[in-house]
Amino acid sequence: MTTTHNIGGIAIQQVTEMRGPGFTPDFLFPDWDQSVLDKHKALMIPNCFDQVQGRFIASIHTWLLKTKHHTILIDSCAGNDKNRPMLPRFHQLNLPFLDRLAEAGVPPESVDYVCCTHLHADHCGWNTRLLDGRWVPTFPNAKYVFSKAEYDHWSGPAGKEGFSAGIFEDSVLPVIQSGQAEIVDGEAAIGNGLTFRPTPGHSPGHVAIQLTDGGQKAIFSGDIMHQPLQVYRPDWNSTFCEHKEHARASRRWLLEQAAEDRATVFSAHFANTSAGYVARRGDEFDWRFV
Ligand SMILES: [Zn+2]
Repeated sequence: MTTTHNIGGIAIQQVTEMRGPGFTPDFLFPDWDQSVLDKHKALMIPNCFDQVQGRFIASIHTWLLKTKHHTILIDSCAGNDKNRPMLPRFHQLNLPFLDRLAEAGVPPESVDYVCCTHLHADHCGWNTRLLDGRWVPTFPNAKYVFSKAEYDHWSGPAGKEGFSAGIFEDSVLPVIQSGQAEIVDGEAAIGNGLTFRPTPGHSPGHVAIQLTDGGQKAIFSGDIMHQPLQVYRPDWNSTFCEHKEHARASRRWLLEQAAEDRATVFSAHFANTSAGYVARRGDEFDWRFV
């Protein structure tokens, strides 16, 4: 049984699709400096860094929110049966994610909203599933919410090229065609105390999703950060960040905002408990897992 976090009257649980050693540090972070890991060993080892393999441990999960009236998923992992030859970790998966969601009391038809921080392979995969050779919405009664800037980018040529080829077609287009998409332009309240905050850089239309309920705050940070070490080095982009300066500015904004609001940060890829708090000390930040 996973931990339940309470933000006001909203219960939040992590439902994991996969977790394990992922990228090597010098691949994930082009500006990698070993001394930063050495300094934060107690935070990183053994839950976030595999010393034997010399790789970060990554988690891929959804955040399940139960409000008084609605069931909401934030980010929908990589999905099963997706053809991702350029992304071997996500290629032709067959994982019991929907069983785990059902164990958390959530059959697919009970999901009301699926919010995607962005439309990379590991954030919109379970938007759809393969049924009789066709991609159909996994959650038949859900609205799928994502940003217009992200939609505009991936519906164009970018969605047909390189490691992103096919993602838009198999994981986004079917929910557009079924009339289930809700496309949000810029900063916007989307109901249930949730607000999309444009945080471009990792991808052009990336959003962080803020939650306020009963005077308490949380923020779902998407891929603004991949590992806790970026709290200490907000200038470190991942190798996947498309616009370097925007990504750095968005990361700094997130850290400042989270510290100021004393918000619980729900990360998309940190291992350990995947959630925590940011504290500010002068110009620097500190991370503590929940
Ligand atoms: Zn990601």
